[in-house]
Amino acid sequence: MSAKTNTSKEKGGASASPDRLAATLLLDAPASRVRGVSPARAGALEKLGVRTVRDLLTHYPRRYVDLSSVCTVAEARIGSACTIQGTVHEIKLKRPRPKLTLVEIALVDQTGLLVVTAFRQPWLMDTVRAGAQVAVAGKVEFSYGFKRMTNPYLEVLGDEPATGMIIPVHPACEKVSAAWMRRLVGNALEATCGVLDPLPLDLRAKYRLMSRGCALRAIHFPQAMPEAHEARRRLAYEELLMLELFLMQQSAERSRDVEPVAHVTDGPRLRALAASLPFALTDEQASARDEILGAMAAPRVANHMLLGDVGTGKTVVAAHALAAAADTGGQAFLMAPTEVLARQHAKSLGALFDAAGVTYALLTGSTSAAERADAVARSAAGEIDVLIGTHALLEDDVVAPRLTLAVVDEQQRFGVDQRAKLLSKGAAPDALFLTATPIPRTLALALFGSLTLSYIKHRPHDAARRTTCVVAKSERGRAYDAAAAALARGEQVYVVCPLIGKSSEERDELAGKGAAAREGDAEEAFHPTVAIEDDADMADDDVTAATQEAAFLSAKVFPDHEVALLHGGMPAAEKQAVMDRFRAGEIGVLVATTVIEVGVDVPRATVMIVEDADRFGLSQLHQLRGRVGRGSLPAQVFLVSASKQEAALARLRAMETTDDGYELAAFDLSLRREGDILGNRQSGASALKLVNVVRDQGIIEAANADARAIMEVDPLLEEPDHAALAREMRALFAQERAVVGG
Ligand code: ADP
Ligand code: MG
Repeated sequence: MSAKTNTSKEKGGASASPDRLAATLLLDAPASRVRGVSPARAGALEKLGVRTVRDLLTHYPRRYVDLSSVCTVAEARIGSACTIQGTVHEIKLKRPRPKLTLVEIALVDQTGLLVVTAFRQPWLMDTVRAGAQVAVAGKVEFSYGFKRMTNPYLEVLGDEPATGMIIPVHPACEKVSAAWMRRLVGNALEATCGVLDPLPLDLRAKYRLMSRGCALRAIHFPQAMPEAHEARRRLAYEELLMLELFLMQQSAERSRDVEPVAHVTDGPRLRALAASLPFALTDEQASARDEILGAMAAPRVANHMLLGDVGTGKTVVAAHALAAAADTGGQAFLMAPTEVLARQHAKSLGALFDAAGVTYALLTGSTSAAERADAVARSAAGEIDVLIGTHALLEDDVVAPRLTLAVVDEQQRFGVDQRAKLLSKGAAPDALFLTATPIPRTLALALFGSLTLSYIKHRPHDAARRTTCVVAKSERGRAYDAAAAALARGEQVYVVCPLIGKSSEERDELAGKGAAAREGDAEEAFHPTVAIEDDADMADDDVTAATQEAAFLSAKVFPDHEVALLHGGMPAAEKQAVMDRFRAGEIGVLVATTVIEVGVDVPRATVMIVEDADRFGLSQLHQLRGRVGRGSLPAQVFLVSASKQEAALARLRAMETTDDGYELAAFDLSLRREGDILGNRQSGASALKLVNVVRDQGIIEAANADARAIMEVDPLLEEPDHAALAREMRALFAQERAVVGG
């Protein structure tokens, strides 16, 4: 579909008139330069992350209300999304609970009555009056004899000139309503009319993309929906091209003017390590090892990602890389996201390293001062081959003068700045990232630019089956029976309690299905997910819940077995003691919060019971269940849920259907959100506002190929055709000083 070029100003490329230049420069001016952005509104906008005019222009509508397809109350089909216009017959404020407000509106048209309920929007009492004409858009429900809408989009009609039949709904807040946001964005568009297009003409022509000016206007104020889609396509492509160029320039930067190490990959330590393995590597592990060693042996800065579902045995593969660094006379870091995991690595790899003659030390937040001083001094003197640790490795005084390799386990749990900091501790160390996030190959390649990849698809003990079963809370005796049977066989059990990390009030709201905050996203099932427990930040309630659960299990369910509690709020030494005893088999049942989510490896643990499983995201549940079925014994996972909501249960049942994280990802888009893929605070991730990594694979690949082609002919973006691109990239990534791992 063709882009509408409605003004001659939009045409043309390089010849920048002063007006167009001024409009373009305005993009990076403070948002307060836009008409209507008062200091108070500027403050409110800032809270939404909108600081500059550019931010305002890229504050895209979350959805659109199509007033051209209005229906009457009588026509509105129950269960479907509709727009209904009518007159406010009555409006009332109610307080079902002390901290919960609810506005109820009786809306009438010629055919009937619609009851509209809006949670936590008390200001509606001021903006909506009886007798007003309003349009509401949302899903029609039926209960207690009336057609209803809960938290619909609501627009008071008539007080402003018609904006067209399609009304954009921008993310808003209490201080700046959606209507105001629309006005401010409109003003920003006006002020930047004629803004230059950074995309070279040939690329625009190749994909028939709208100009930037048209696209911005069309995405905010489309005349018809296809126009909005075209605008999104253009702007998503631009986002990706910019990110790709940025990533590629960053990685070129990293290897410029440095002497990369060519690692020795047939040395004595590596051989000794291989010989001391208690098992043979699977074929997939062996090829991953070969690919990694190949990348390390090459006289280039290696940037390698090892992707494998939980339990596929990535650690031992990484051990080979670490031994190769030692054989080369280099030093290496292994960084893991949690203390429990770092200690486990020190323990399991330590045995291999001892056998191979690789020296190592452990450094975490709870390492004693004396031990820490010793490890830091020996590392600085070059006497330690491998330093294993947590974020503690990032501290400034931790140095390794001959650093040639940095391994980051569960890389998605680290921010780009943290990964960059680790790498910056050496001149040009090779980097190896381990992750269990299911990223398809094309996508990973595209998003990480120059990264090389290895995949491990199968767990070493494929024969040992792991079954997952969803059980109702009332039937959790079944899970306890299975756990008791396992304990009788000398195996061990995890009971996982969710960590809500939210106030009880917020919980009310979640439970109340009101979901006021989640206006929009209609196609997404609403499912609250628990927070990942990182360090000690957990609500008292959660501790209480887990503590009570442990007491209950110990007294009533498993009186003959040792039941212990593990949560993130415990002191490190205590956590460590519990994990050690569990690993040693002294504890039969470990009641834990999500602190055990990543990486923990106890092969004799074969049963896992997850309480309130519906509160977890699928990716988290998959990570969790990866804790069992790691040895040669078959394992059982029970997902306990009290939910009666069909959608929540159907989601959980996907866990029964497949045990494969990559397959599971197809069930749950949340598994493959940009954040997951790029890492939680990945540099540049914030630049992707429109891109959806699942739906936009084609655009991602195109942008990747185009960026490569540009980098090949003009790596520094110095050609006149690329001047606008270069300027745009600098503006977009001004704050991203960090080096990206790709
Ligand atoms: P992840 O990929 O999730 O990090 P780990 O590296 O922790 O997985 O390995 C999971 C378990 O599988 C560990 O107990 C490990 O010792 C074991 N393991 C790894 N490779 C093999 C193998 N080739 N044969 C048997 N067991 C293996
Ligand atoms: Mg692991």
